[in-house]
Amino acid sequence: MKKLKNYEVWFITGSQHLYGEKTLLEVAEHSKEIAKGLSKSPNIPIKVVFKPVLTTPDSIYDLMLEANNSKTCIGLITWMHTFSPAKMWIAGLKVLQKPFVHLHTQYNRDIPWSKIDMDFMNLNQSAHGGREFGFICTRMKKSRKVIVGYWKDEKVQNKLAIWMRAAFAWQDAQGGKIARFGDNMREVAVTEGDKVEAQLRLGYSVNGFGVGDLVKYVTTITDKEIDTLISEYQDRYIIAAEAAIGGSKHSDLREAARIELGIRQFLEDGNFTGFTTTFEDLHGLKQLPGLAVQRLMADGYGFGAEGDWKTAALVRAMKIMSVGLNGGASFMEDYTYHLDPSGMKVLGAHMLEVCESITAGKPGLEVHPLSIGGKDDPPRLVFNVPAGPALNVSLIDLGNRFRMILNEVDVVLPDEELPKLPVARAVWIPKPDLEIAAESWILAGGAHHSGFSQALTAEYIEDFAEIAGIELLQIDDSTKMSEFKKEIRWNTVSYS
Ligand code: MN
Repeated sequence: MKKLKNYEVWFITGSQHLYGEKTLLEVAEHSKEIAKGLSKSPNIPIKVVFKPVLTTPDSIYDLMLEANNSKTCIGLITWMHTFSPAKMWIAGLKVLQKPFVHLHTQYNRDIPWSKIDMDFMNLNQSAHGGREFGFICTRMKKSRKVIVGYWKDEKVQNKLAIWMRAAFAWQDAQGGKIARFGDNMREVAVTEGDKVEAQLRLGYSVNGFGVGDLVKYVTTITDKEIDTLISEYQDRYIIAAEAAIGGSKHSDLREAARIELGIRQFLEDGNFTGFTTTFEDLHGLKQLPGLAVQRLMADGYGFGAEGDWKTAALVRAMKIMSVGLNGGASFMEDYTYHLDPSGMKVLGAHMLEVCESITAGKPGLEVHPLSIGGKDDPPRLVFNVPAGPALNVSLIDLGNRFRMILNEVDVVLPDEELPKLPVARAVWIPKPDLEIAAESWILAGGAHHSGFSQALTAEYIEDFAEIAGIELLQIDDSTKMSEFKKEIRWNTVSYS
């Protein structure tokens, strides 16, 4: 999994020559202090690097090119300590390819009421300098996040940290690689899409491989490698008697281990960041990969079932955004409803492929028949997801563009034990309630597959969609049907 500490965000300050050498030195000192302060803050997950104060169109342009070319810079924090006439920024902003945030802060938190003079006023000009910069960004239709407040405030730093994680996921998507084993589940619509447009717009490539290419890897796995992995399973999971050594289905577990090792090697050799499978094309594989998918997702790979490459890339992005946070991220599907009017809820699961990063407990490892596909019984991890806030996100292709849909939900514990349900599952109450949430989701065209996370909040997804320049429809406590319908109509015009 990629590490945040290997990357950096550049802190750049706008000013102009008008103020003279002395003031500019002061501006630089203050900028250094802020960059250092942010970098050292426990709220900020990534290194913040000070860059010399920008006072000319040429220096701005050169810095933007440098940022574009840097492999470690994932984005820019822009700050206008003083006034920086914004025509100077046009050439630079025109070529900038990296995401940026406009930190609308001030070096001094408070107005020094009894001491304030014109020197103070001329140095602390963010209030109007930030507006000049904002105008040119808006005029140039530049996607960015604007954060307002004092730079030492936890609230401001947390908003900045969220943007940094979204920028990190964006950086990861650029050049990201999704492998598809087999094609789509036949006749399914929402998992299809324009892979060329995805690469142009979102940065990652999606390519198909015959299952035979994967089987070649699987068949080279040795018994010794399988033994080692089985002992890892024994440490990590509660293995059901039939799957344990000596049990009637232990051979199925050994086969699952073989498949996991084969897929892992394939993905590592090709530097892939995510993958898809489909139960309709398993030629040469003895079972549908279940346990393998669950464990590979836990290691950071994006995944989508039934050929769903858009969700695979989305899950990967959500995993990258949530690196080091509590809560995990997984492929998910709205499976079945509880429509009791006194407490409607959704049971989310999949045939097998739910990531173990979203459970708090020790998963059970069981082997059961798969009711479709006609293959051997696949092992799978079985667990509940702990109660707490979460979200589901969907990415769809509307034919001429992509749309993201997000629904905030509250995970609750199942009303009763589920002794006969042999898959990992989450039970949730969507916000504002199931009726409005499902009606909105369906009108928006949201898929049955989604990326699910208890680590992320809506703001992460909002920042990611902003960086990507794609539409985001959000369903939460404030959603009203009449307004949501209008938003869909207006967005259709706005984004077409
Ligand atoms: Mn599915």
